[in-house]
Amino acid sequence: MNKTDMPMVTEGIKSRYETCTGCGVCLLSCPVWRQTRDVMLTVCGRTRALQNGSSPEELRDSLNACVLCGACGSVCPVELDTVGLTTELRALLNVKNAPPRSERAATGTTFRKAFSGSKVFLPGMAVRKNEQIFQGITRLLEQDNALPSADDDISDIAADIEAGVRPEPKQLEKLASAMSGVTEFVVAEGFLHRYLRAWFPEKKVIGLGEALLRLPEIAKALKPGDLYVIEARGYHSDYKRLVKFYDSVRLQAGCTMSTSLQRAAIPVGATEPQKQRGCSSRVDSSEQVRWILDRRKVDRVVVESVEDMGIFKNLSPVNVIHVSELR
Ligand code: SF4
Ligand code: SF4
Repeated sequence: MNKTDMPMVTEGIKSRYETCTGCGVCLLSCPVWRQTRDVMLTVCGRTRALQNGSSPEELRDSLNACVLCGACGSVCPVELDTVGLTTELRALLNVKNAPPRSERAATGTTFRKAFSGSKVFLPGMAVRKNEQIFQGITRLLEQDNALPSADDDISDIAADIEAGVRPEPKQLEKLASAMSGVTEFVVAEGFLHRYLRAWFPEKKVIGLGEALLRLPEIAKALKPGDLYVIEARGYHSDYKRLVKFYDSVRLQAGCTMSTSLQRAAIPVGATEPQKQRGCSSRVDSSEQVRWILDRRKVDRVVVESVEDMGIFKNLSPVNVIHVSELR
């Protein structure tokens, strides 16, 4: 591609990165930095390169390396919207490495309820694939009047955004109309949180872990010997509020949490959309799990994300359960 054919940054994108001071604080929480030690593959490297005249095309490898965990944005002193910047740049490049929808794996959907009721549970692809976990979560959330809904369309839109494909306005209109009666979303897929808040600012969006931990029977079952593994994408999308929420859970239970020294949640990076589009991000999830488990002496591991469970089960010397299985 000639330099003149390369997509150039828009003013909107420019305003997102020009406040970066290059302080490098974000490197400490970035899984790509931890595993590659290549600053050019991090948001710090991307913003500095853009400030110095690089084009998005020249940053293609760097943009694809990112797992969009948002840990960098949570610790950034100038509060740069790092995930928004990366997804905007991917969209600019139109990084179409997602397979067409027809080729995506069947999600094993076992329910088909219309969006109804004021509280709606969006289980996402990974939970829908695990019938036992899905049924357990559904039983628990029913106590709080949150009912599960078919969410394939929303998951597809999120996977597209992740891959650099902007949603069609008609898709969003359809969603808005389907969810007009909803007041609160309980959302398992962390990447969706920020977009649901942007699309529906008047509605409440909380993560699955938060919704379950608010149930007394679940909160009481978390013990001092437990290591609780937070789903990183949802946590970082509402970081200031959730730091306080998870702190109170930790203090009440006496357990430990999968947060780093900067209070960011250590991302595992094993997300369904990443796997589905065959994205070879630079993050080895097993290595992330080893980091989380390193030198911790715990009796049990409790994970929020179903996507993370298999890797923890492979690597943890102690029992691993999903938060919905807490007893
Ligand atoms: S922490 Fe923020 S300001 Fe500092 S280098 Fe990273 S993105 Fe830039
Ligand atoms: S979103 Fe995560 S992987 Fe991407 S640059 Fe930030 S910390 Fe690194």
